[in-house]
Amino acid sequence: MNDAADEQVAKAEAALADTRFTTYWLDSLDVVDDESALQEDTQCDLLVVGGGFCGLWAALQAREQDPDRSVVLIEAHSVANGASGRPAAIMSTSVMHGIDNTERIFPDDVAELERLGRENMDGFRETVERYAIDCDLEWGGEMKVSIGDQGLATVEEDYQLYLKYGHDAVKLDKDAVQAEIHSPIFHGGTWSKQRCGTVHPGKLVRGLKRAALSAGVRLHENTPMLNTRKTAAGIEVNTPAASITARKVLLATNAWAAGHRHISRRVAAIRDRIVVTEPLSDMQMEKIGWRNRQGIYDTRTQLNYMRLTADNRILFGGRLDYFYGNDTDPALDRTAQPFIRLVQSFYRTFPQLADEIRFDYAWSGPIGLTTRMAVHYQKYHDGDMVFAGGYSGFGVTASRFGARVGLAILDQQDIAETRMQFAKTLPNYIPPEPFRWIGAKITMYALDTLDEKGGWRKLWVAMVEKMGFPITL
Ligand SMILES: Cc1cc2nc3c(=O)[nH]c(=O)nc-3n(C[C@H](O)[C@H](O)[C@H](O)COP(=O)(O)OP(=O)(O)OC[C@H]3O[C@@H](n4cnc5c(N)ncnc54)[C@H](O)[C@@H]3O)c2cc1C
Repeated sequence: MNDAADEQVAKAEAALADTRFTTYWLDSLDVVDDESALQEDTQCDLLVVGGGFCGLWAALQAREQDPDRSVVLIEAHSVANGASGRPAAIMSTSVMHGIDNTERIFPDDVAELERLGRENMDGFRETVERYAIDCDLEWGGEMKVSIGDQGLATVEEDYQLYLKYGHDAVKLDKDAVQAEIHSPIFHGGTWSKQRCGTVHPGKLVRGLKRAALSAGVRLHENTPMLNTRKTAAGIEVNTPAASITARKVLLATNAWAAGHRHISRRVAAIRDRIVVTEPLSDMQMEKIGWRNRQGIYDTRTQLNYMRLTADNRILFGGRLDYFYGNDTDPALDRTAQPFIRLVQSFYRTFPQLADEIRFDYAWSGPIGLTTRMAVHYQKYHDGDMVFAGGYSGFGVTASRFGARVGLAILDQQDIAETRMQFAKTLPNYIPPEPFRWIGAKITMYALDTLDEKGGWRKLWVAMVEKMGFPITL
């Protein structure tokens, strides 16, 4: 490393010196008591396993659809223990990880999936309002920004897709994008203004938990599912102290499903990282602009995303990693070292803050990754147990839709959604260990250096894309 690079690393280390390696979203909320763990054997019509967005939306919608259906939800730790307590929480209308990804995986269904996405977002908003969930909703829109001129073609493609599928989007040239957000590396952007923005995911999870309880869901935290078996009475799910016999089971265990012998063939537990600054002063806010408070993604190969929090911190994320055996909580991610490169990307994005900003929080979260990067459904026990998950990096609002369709599949409902390809087919296999770890490590290294060095990295990335992963979307 040269002196300038050493200095950058030292600056990042200093900015991370007092960082808390925990999620800002939950740390900024009052501590509340967990719901009691399951102690006695019980029965129900529907058991939901997992207290993230997908599980909570499933339990709530199940009771709303049929108030006579008995619904139990069990969560291994506390609700929001997984990805749902740790995202950037940029909200999008897409239910399939962006329109570009939808075109890639289901080219014949894009228009309908986009319509369903809009309908989902309206339903999301209506539910949040009906249950009076105070979760810092901001409808500033979502924006894809081009880093330098290299990303302009991607931004243009996004803009054309937004227009084609009826979004209220505008294209921004270099001056216009820099007038919105004062970053010298943004050379253009596409800003989709309607039905998207940002939310406080911790408050949203807590609100959904309250809503589910008020709708009659029986919720038990600190109650991990240990195993399942089909019996004449239904599916028996064992937990440490008691068992549940359920007519139907929805597994909403996201990345943890990668620990399941069968589900893991198509789901890998990837880590994604985030840093959050201290609150910006009025003068620092002036320096960055961002008055419309959009959620932002950029076009770097190792994509970064960013947003403001209600108390004007910058949340900056996007360094993927994989740990052997689908580890969902690696100790390494509770130290400064893996966040240094993310902080350096922050400095390149907002050089005007580089000498003065500290990072109060840094954390990583488990993403359930599939080759489609979108929800899919795996059936077990003759279809009476369904895994719904694999939202990858786009599940805060898409999980409401994914949960609704998961319930319909469990109930064998013949509706338009259950007849669509996304509900009927499965993503590709992902190699097992040790190939999964080796492949992930080479891919991460290739991505880190692709933009500057090219060469074999391009061939490798092309091969990984052939396996079905959309690396350069
Ligand atoms: C760093 C990061 C940034 C992200 N940014 C965004 C974003 O900006 N926008 C967006 O839309 N999405 C984003 N996402 C994705 C989004 O957070 C997820 O798609 C979504 O939260 C998935 O919800 P889930 O309920 O499927 O999974 P989770 O929230 O992970 O919930 C699964 C739950 O299952 C529980 N569980 C596991 N095993 C068991 C068991 N055996 N018994 C009982 N319970 C069990 C876990 O404890 C966990 O609470 C991001 C994710 C991460 C990690």
